[in-house]
Amino acid sequence: MPGDKKTTPAQDWRALPKVLLHEHLDGGLRPSTLLELCAARGVPVPETEAGALAAWMHANADSGSLERYLQGFAITVAAMASESACERVAFEAAEDARADGCVLAEFRMAPLLLEPHGLSGEAVVEATLAGLARSRFRCGLIVCGMRTDNPADTIRSARLAVKYRDQGVVGFDLAGAEKYYPPGDHAESMRIAREAGVSLTCHAGESDGGERVLEAASLGAVRIGHGIRIVHGDTPEQTRAWVDRARELDLHFEVCPSSNVHTGAASSLEAHPIRAMIAAGLSVSCSTDNRLMSHVTLSGEMEALHTRTGLSMAQLRELVRAGVKRSFLPQWDRAAALAEVEAGFPST
Ligand SMILES: [Zn+2]
Repeated sequence: MPGDKKTTPAQDWRALPKVLLHEHLDGGLRPSTLLELCAARGVPVPETEAGALAAWMHANADSGSLERYLQGFAITVAAMASESACERVAFEAAEDARADGCVLAEFRMAPLLLEPHGLSGEAVVEATLAGLARSRFRCGLIVCGMRTDNPADTIRSARLAVKYRDQGVVGFDLAGAEKYYPPGDHAESMRIAREAGVSLTCHAGESDGGERVLEAASLGAVRIGHGIRIVHGDTPEQTRAWVDRARELDLHFEVCPSSNVHTGAASSLEAHPIRAMIAAGLSVSCSTDNRLMSHVTLSGEMEALHTRTGLSMAQLRELVRAGVKRSFLPQWDRAAALAEVEAGFPST
């Protein structure tokens, strides 16, 4: 708990080993990079100074609406619409994760978002993988299909994940506005990825109800993006049934605390459902979702979970361990990352 003797106000949160499973590349650009890329491509920006542009993005994200949260992405996606930009953004994201104390990271991107800007899905994936590889960091790419798109497009996205699965793509995800776009609409894309041996995660139970978590699991998702509504059924009995089923299925939840507050899925960090999820015995880790939009770092999120949400250092350590174990990276990467966690996270 916050008064835990093992922690002090001087806790070095960056130095703590951490794991990042859920971060969108188009939501995590460095503000200075975004300005440079926009200038190079002639993309109009609402602010011309890096700090002010970051503040604009954050204000939009903190509006309490997932739909408004997604508006800033129009700018970042337009800025990223070249192979060199994708390579740079991926490289910098990996470097930032390492500098923030991550021992392992997974980044995600919906390649088809760049198609209207003239870049093929293949070009996006290849450039992004090149950037991640240049960092020489322990990391991988999750290909996202946008659930607001036609299922034919999420099928194309799944095929991209399959095509590059031996070259650094580690998973497939359904992303985008959740409400009115249930994962079942994209069952075929999930099937294609699953049957090809690509690991599945799925945004579910964030702006829509907890039943979507189990729907995603029925399609083969072994991890859930957010999923916090799993502990908010209409009745205690429904919540219990959902949670029991999620435990039976051994689902892992990629929880992104500040992002959940910004989209209105959680009322505050103090009241964040992650405490109830841990208490219910669910497998949970902590990620950032969109560092630029939410103006967060993983270190900051971990600190907030301790100081504001009330998780103990022992609980934080379990989040990191669970995240490493449930990473989609190869077993040898997970083993090496776990060894760093065991050696570097203070025992409690
Ligand atoms: Zn997300």
